[in-house]
Amino acid sequence: MDRQNGIWNPTGFDSTLSITRTLKGPYGDSPDGAVQKYSYERLPDRPLNSGRNLKLRAAAASGVPLIFFQEIRPSFYLPRYPVFIVEDDPYAGYVDVAFDESLTLFGDPLRFTTEQRRYAERMVQVRLHQKSFRSRVLHAYGARCAVCTLAHDELLDAAHITADGAEDSTTAVTNGLSLCKLHHAAFDRQVIGIDGNYRVHVRADILAEADGPMLKHGLQAMDGRTLLVPRRIAEHPDSERLHRRYLEFTDWGGGLFRRRSP
Ligand SMILES: [Zn+2]
Repeated sequence: MDRQNGIWNPTGFDSTLSITRTLKGPYGDSPDGAVQKYSYERLPDRPLNSGRNLKLRAAAASGVPLIFFQEIRPSFYLPRYPVFIVEDDPYAGYVDVAFDESLTLFGDPLRFTTEQRRYAERMVQVRLHQKSFRSRVLHAYGARCAVCTLAHDELLDAAHITADGAEDSTTAVTNGLSLCKLHHAAFDRQVIGIDGNYRVHVRADILAEADGPMLKHGLQAMDGRTLLVPRRIAEHPDSERLHRRYLEFTDWGGGLFRRRSP
């Protein structure tokens, strides 16, 4: 990537390899949507149809995929690949970048039907949000599991507190928990619960089991632990959301307990 110039044309490439959008870009490109405008490089006393822009235009003509780097926090970039340039406007000095190959099948984004536009935007929003959610949540927790503090990025997920897809769900970091694969699944399946005071509870029937080291150390030993939370208070998990989720956990555990009673 070329953070200085935005458009990166490595030597030996016929067309642009990557384009970068910074948080404080000078060009006022449109930041959202399935198809986004990306400005040509604008240099004083240079025509638009010159310099780095030539290979950007070549990418538009050939339809080869590019990498798009989007700055999501200062100096942190989310790569998106493949993206395609689906429209080139050399007079205004903009290209239209489509964020999914299937979008190029729709042709000129200006002529999208309402359904095509809605579909395209929904699809891109979902993918962008999922990727950036994971990145933001893991970063907030220093890439550790909030329950067991395991620090292996490749074994970590960003779990939603209020389920993704629920009406009041959000992709804010405060609706997320950085959890290892085991504790993510255990949280989603009500094997562990986390209350509004950030305390971890293991379901009673699980605590009563006897089995090998994973049960003992991985699950039972987590009972009563306090959640690891991000350094920044603004990124702490939302207590209200955790509490609502915890009520589902206790409902589940309560039902189980009643079933076991004579
Ligand atoms: Zn864990």
